[in-house]
Amino acid sequence: MLVTGKEILEHAHKHNYAVGAFNVNNMEIVQAIIEAAEETNSPVILQASQGGIKYAGIEYIAALGKVAARKAKVPVAIHLDHGTDFEQIMLCIRHGFTSVMIDGSKYELKKNIELTKKVIEVAHAVGVSVEAELGKIGGTEDDITVDEKDATFTDPDEAKLFVDGTGVDYLAIAVGTAHGVYKGEPKLDFDRIKILKDLLQIPLVLHGSSGVPADSIKKAVSLGINKINIDTDLRVAFTQAIKDFNKKDPDNIDPRKVLTPAKEAMKEVIKEKMALFGSAGRA
Ligand SMILES: [Zn+2]
Repeated sequence: MLVTGKEILEHAHKHNYAVGAFNVNNMEIVQAIIEAAEETNSPVILQASQGGIKYAGIEYIAALGKVAARKAKVPVAIHLDHGTDFEQIMLCIRHGFTSVMIDGSKYELKKNIELTKKVIEVAHAVGVSVEAELGKIGGTEDDITVDEKDATFTDPDEAKLFVDGTGVDYLAIAVGTAHGVYKGEPKLDFDRIKILKDLLQIPLVLHGSSGVPADSIKKAVSLGINKINIDTDLRVAFTQAIKDFNKKDPDNIDPRKVLTPAKEAMKEVIKEKMALFGSAGRA
């Protein structure tokens, strides 16, 4: 069933677990996510980045998500990841997304608040939930790059001002994770997560969560993270399975035979995440 992001995340916030938001770019990824969610009885968020939308086309991405959500036995939200452009966000809402992110983190606080408020006014009027970001998460997510030296952790006082000033539904915080593949082991600022949760009392979002050790994820969830974005781990599983298959059967010319093990590999990763995040059995 298709639901809003808020519906899924308010429940997670109340019951202290996290829901995976997995990036989608094609049909097989959508199917892997939905099958994993149904098999573990977990709510789930399908998310598309602006890069994903550029790749597949908004009509295809929205249609895939809506068909999957309506057929699914578990709650599914369709979310725009890192929306930076007001018109792109409006387009997603028009195509049936039930959650959107406005990423104004590159602006100073006042402009970030203004931009987020503008999106919320429209989105909430039509029942669409909104995620915003405060602080700067390092690394590269599709076409958005933040240099390591420019990455800054979320300031609790600013966060309080931001949430009170905008009425945002859930907030992406910068606490030590980064987008893409990690070089060393990421160190999360757990105290900051706890301070932010106590202060804000809304669902909190962790970006750049692929490659973060399982015990760190567990601790972050116990302290108040309710949405966990996963993209890189799926990319790695998908492409590695294709490489392995092509090595095993170099003469194959049937795309379905290549994509089936890729889908299965992603599904296994997703099911592990759902168990780790605590969303399994919560649908
Ligand atoms: Zn992100």
